Amino acid sequence: MIPLCDLKQQYTELQAELEAALLSSAAAGQYIMGPNVRGFEQEFAAYADCKYAIGVGNGTDALHISLLAAGIGPGDEVITTPFTFIATCEAINLVGATPVFVDIDPVTFNIDPDKIEEAITPRTKLILPVHLYGLPCEMDRILAIAEQHHLKVIEDCAQSVGASYKGKQTGTMGLAGCLSFFPSKNLGCMGDGGMILTNDDEMYERAEMLRRHGGKVKYHHTENGVNSRLDDIQAAVLRVKLSHLEQWNQRRQAAAAKYAEGLADQPISLPTAGNSDALSVFHQYTVLVDGRDRLLKVLGEQGVGTAVYYPIPLHLQEVNRSLNYQPGDFPVSERVADRCLSLPMSPHLTPEQQEVVCHTMIANLEPVGTQG
Ligand SMILES: *Cc1c(COP(=O)(O)O)cnc(C)c1O
Repeated sequence: MIPLCDLKQQYTELQAELEAALLSSAAAGQYIMGPNVRGFEQEFAAYADCKYAIGVGNGTDALHISLLAAGIGPGDEVITTPFTFIATCEAINLVGATPVFVDIDPVTFNIDPDKIEEAITPRTKLILPVHLYGLPCEMDRILAIAEQHHLKVIEDCAQSVGASYKGKQTGTMGLAGCLSFFPSKNLGCMGDGGMILTNDDEMYERAEMLRRHGGKVKYHHTENGVNSRLDDIQAAVLRVKLSHLEQWNQRRQAAAAKYAEGLADQPISLPTAGNSDALSVFHQYTVLVDGRDRLLKVLGEQGVGTAVYYPIPLHLQEVNRSLNYQPGDFPVSERVADRCLSLPMSPHLTPEQQEVVCHTMIANLEPVGTQG
């Protein structure tokens, strides 16, 4: 079986270093807010060229805490994409604000900057772009719209760790950036983990205390926060992996280029690698094909692991029914959701495995002429 994402291979590559880090954290006994958390926060902030990095429990909490710290709450509207993981809009719902969706660009799959302004109302407070599949959004345009309308920007970088836009790391351009270290992300730990990046002093102060029950001084609580800290043992793992991230992202890019070669001239729509402003770090390699569901099943039967990210756009999710969106409201997102298929992608994918994936895909495509 060729897995969608090969975590065992990643462990094998770094086994000695990882085991030393795990045991050293275990032996030190400072499991909460221990030295590896501080160390990793500093190392990541330096890596991303960002003033502050705050380790939290997971990427969803990073979004939730950032929105709380930015003062977003009931009555506020937050503009985001309907074509993302549920956590993006879950965080907006959790603070009591209202998600307002804007359709995606058919080439980048990211929020379409041309459609943002028409969604702005007097209640709009913030834009929450998602750098989907590792491809940075058109941040210049998003930041310009935000500035003109006095809106804040928080970036969902769960899939784009290490990607940059015009030389700036994703997550460092808006008020805050939210990372996830879920195991399958480009920088993953051995459980849940997340991080908030910010260059803003006030944002840092608030988010840092909100992650540990909302108080600057222990047992003195100024507001309701949450309990969401990065574990020392996870930070120890992440410190080891951070030094490999750049190289791993390059390996993903090389694998994407190989797919582009192997799948050229087929009735498959291939993802963009980005441009001179911003390259994708290919968290996922997602193609569009007709007969997607049949292909997914056949590929699985023939030993190729694929997945659909994401089958139902968020405006059509049951949890959002009170927002009263209808099928057809975001036609690009809906069409992409019906046709998208993510192929095996990781720094450890071998050229031989990729050849099998391409060959199996091509052999099982719908005959030309029957596409809908
Ligand atoms: C993974 C992911 C999240 C949530 O991260 P967790 O660490 O799983 O909570 C948020 N947004 C996007 C786009 C993601 O892919």
